[in-house]
Amino acid sequence: MAQAELTIDLAAIVANWRSLDAMSAGETAACVKADAYGLGAEVVGPALAKAGCRTFFVALAEEGATLRKVLGAGPRICVFGGHMEGDAPLMAEHNLIPMLNSPEQVLRHGAGAYGVQLDSGMNRLGMEPSEWASVRDGLTPEFVMSHLACADEASHIMNKQQLAAFTEMTEGVTVPRSLAATGGVLLGADYHFDLTRPGIGLYGGAPYSAAKHVVTLSLPVIQVRDVAKGETVGYGNIWKAERASRIATVSGGYADGLIRAVGRASSLFHGNKACPLVGRVSMDLITVDVTDLTETPTSLDILNGTQTVDTLATAAGTIGYEILTSLGARYARRYVS
Ligand SMILES: *Cc1c(COP(=O)(O)O)cnc(C)c1O
Repeated sequence: MAQAELTIDLAAIVANWRSLDAMSAGETAACVKADAYGLGAEVVGPALAKAGCRTFFVALAEEGATLRKVLGAGPRICVFGGHMEGDAPLMAEHNLIPMLNSPEQVLRHGAGAYGVQLDSGMNRLGMEPSEWASVRDGLTPEFVMSHLACADEASHIMNKQQLAAFTEMTEGVTVPRSLAATGGVLLGADYHFDLTRPGIGLYGGAPYSAAKHVVTLSLPVIQVRDVAKGETVGYGNIWKAERASRIATVSGGYADGLIRAVGRASSLFHGNKACPLVGRVSMDLITVDVTDLTETPTSLDILNGTQTVDTLATAAGTIGYEILTSLGARYARRYVS
């Protein structure tokens, strides 16, 4: 079989949620937008609900509808995008809670539970202080929330500025408040308020460095060949053998989310032995220098406990979130718990 295997450790996701929950002052929700960061919201959602998570966040009403089908009636499902034109039937049918982002969305929403998203300085989503002031007296949201722009940099001055802005905007509010995603949980209790909303930390990504490792990606070896000194490998001849080499061709490429830029500095692993990725990453294939292995491997891991989504992301000049959410549809997905 040339199909690569993506192993997702559900027990590690649950353990990461529990440890973030233990750190959080109040309730801990879970962000499962973008199909649980590419790892499968329909599996991850129920596992977290079973562990005690009562509030879930998605980006779109459509994601909320899909999630409701697997979670059943109990948990709250909140939608960051708020109430967009055309969302009303989905919101009502699946009992979704939009995070209303503007006075226009307040008018559009009418009846039904809702939250309010405030802009405390990121200037991406949420009501400005003046908009909030103009509507707040008539509102009874489930909770109010805002989002930090720089929480992954603990010493960034923006964190304190947003904390102050959010505190000021929510003075006198009697409903629960929420400010922290993963980075905000790590910033400490001042940032927790009543509800935290971690995403990336659940899936083993930075900035939650104490997270348990979640994702292993194993690529089958299709061929192994001898390459003479001076011969080249792959598109563009960018790699040239400086010694007689053994080159393994593995199944997986940029069509599977292993973007070409990962080729800059990454290795693949045979057990804990690193084998350099050589030549260009192509659509379906990657070539690896296995000269120093004593045996011929049948598969090589590109993501494991040593080379995490963040390691790979750094090599590729991106972030773990992007590597995770790009993981392709061609993998055989295996959940372990
Ligand atoms: C994605 C998102 C989160 C979760 O962020 P992480 O950094 O993945 O923990 C929380 N709140 C909002 C508004 C988001 O968009």
